[in-house]
Amino acid sequence: MSLPIYSCFHPILREKTKEVEEITPEIIKLAQDMIVTMHQADGVGLAANQVGKLHSIVTINTAAFEDAKVKYKDLVLINPVITYFSEEEINYKEGCLSVPTIHENVDRPRSITLTYYDLLGKEHTIEDDDYFARVAQHELDHLQGIIFTDLISPMKKTLIKSKMRKIQKGELLPEYQFVDQNDIVL
Ligand code: ZN
Repeated sequence: MSLPIYSCFHPILREKTKEVEEITPEIIKLAQDMIVTMHQADGVGLAANQVGKLHSIVTINTAAFEDAKVKYKDLVLINPVITYFSEEEINYKEGCLSVPTIHENVDRPRSITLTYYDLLGKEHTIEDDDYFARVAQHELDHLQGIIFTDLISPMKKTLIKSKMRKIQKGELLPEYQFVDQNDIVL
C-alpha cells in the first residue's frame, strides 16, 4: 500500500525516530509499504518519518542507477548506524521526496561503514562509497530530524527561499500523495 509522503515543513520531519525493539508484523508491513511508496514516488530512498512513523527504518533502492557500484534493490535498514565516515568529502546534487522540485549540492563524506538489522533481525555491515554512501547519509539524517536543505550553503538557501515558501504554502505539490504541515492525519 502506498503511503502519503510528509512535507519538510511538517513537524514530524524534525523529530528523532525511535529504535525498533522488535520486528512485529506492523513493522514488516510498514517496511513493505515504504518500498511501495518509494517506488511510486520514483525515489531512491525513504525514511519512516517521511511517511509519518517515528521508527528508525530506512528503505533504499539504488538498483536503477548506473553510477551505483553495488546496487541495492529494496534494501530495508532497521536501526541503521553509520560507524565510520571518511575524511574525504564529495559534493553532489541531492533531492528529497519531502522537498519537491528542489535539487541542490551538498558536501558529504565519500565513504561510510553502516550497520543495520534486516527484517529477520539479522545484523549486517555495508562498507560503500559514492552513490550508496550519499543516499544512506541523506536517509539516516532524516531519522535525526535533519533535512538536506539544512546542509546547503547560506547563499543557496537564499536562492531557494521563494520555492521553499511555495512548498510551505502548499503551492508546489508533487504528483504523489503529499501531506503538508497544515494537514491533520488521523
Ligand atoms: Zn529526503
